[in-house]
Amino acid sequence: MAYEGITFRGSRSGQIHESRFLRQNLKPDEVAIKVTHSGICGTDLHFIHADMVLGHEGIGIVQEIGENCKALRIGDRVGWGYTYWSCGRCSACLTGHESYCPTAGKYGAHHLDQGSFGNLAIKSEQWVFKIPDGIESKYAAPLLCAGATVFSPMIEFLKPTDRVGIIGVGGLGHLAIQFAAKMGCDVIALSSTELKREDAINLGAREFYATDGVADYFTLNVTKPLDSLIITTGSENLDLANYYKLLKPVATVIPLTISFEPMLLPTIPTIANGIKIVGTTPSGILIMIQTLEFAERNNIRPIIQEFPMTEAGIMEAMEKLRSGEIRYRAVLSWQLASEST
Ligand SMILES: [Zn+2]
Ligand SMILES: [Zn+2]
Repeated sequence: MAYEGITFRGSRSGQIHESRFLRQNLKPDEVAIKVTHSGICGTDLHFIHADMVLGHEGIGIVQEIGENCKALRIGDRVGWGYTYWSCGRCSACLTGHESYCPTAGKYGAHHLDQGSFGNLAIKSEQWVFKIPDGIESKYAAPLLCAGATVFSPMIEFLKPTDRVGIIGVGGLGHLAIQFAAKMGCDVIALSSTELKREDAINLGAREFYATDGVADYFTLNVTKPLDSLIITTGSENLDLANYYKLLKPVATVIPLTISFEPMLLPTIPTIANGIKIVGTTPSGILIMIQTLEFAERNNIRPIIQEFPMTEAGIMEAMEKLRSGEIRYRAVLSWQLASEST
């Protein structure tokens, strides 16, 4: 059976182009998914100049399943994220860190002919996840990358007794505040200006500090020191030594935003205070499932702006993401595309 879908690609000029995607047959472990929604991640902006289909926060309905598929059925509502495939045999895979598998298939490097910006995706069942009934598709999409990105290090490195600083109230940050608060942590939001104070508090932050124009972060008068610091803004220009003034000794710093520039590490304060800098991405299959289940059970939902799944809709959303106007995650929808034509 032939599968043909519409896809949306980046291009050298940065213009989004509609394209086609053709596959003759499903492999035994693959499922064909009719895409209904896709979130837009900052990483999609990184690849907008590449000749590849964009999108890795996909949601849709299973249309067909390969002969060896065991977990999914036709008609299931499912989603997928950044990782497409892992070997299942290496030390990373065998310890539940499948997304660090040296041979993992990932967005931007593999399957460049398809993504979640499109109406059809063919995926290995291993990395496709059922969406809990309590989460609407448009809200589920951002959980597959942004949600899992913030929740994965929290499960591994945070305790409910921690005071957690979250730098940035955006696509990642507004979810990080919710997940950390629902884990029981004492959440402190740090943002450049006062603009997002009310949103941050409504999402679960107990304290909010604006850092623009503050030369010495001692003078922010943060009430008590922090056990950990989650960075959801670009870390390359961050004045980490200044943020260290807010931390307890032996605190954990977790940079999450992808940046191509090196991070400046203040060597002596890092060593002298035993600071742990932790690199992390959504670590494996289990955390993808746990992110969805925890979000459903604790009523965690992204705040979204919807755009039609069309060339124009994607361009508009990308421009708004680039200029920092999205509150707080853009989601593309085929339903809106059909309503706009
Ligand atoms: Zn992403
Ligand atoms: Zn592996």
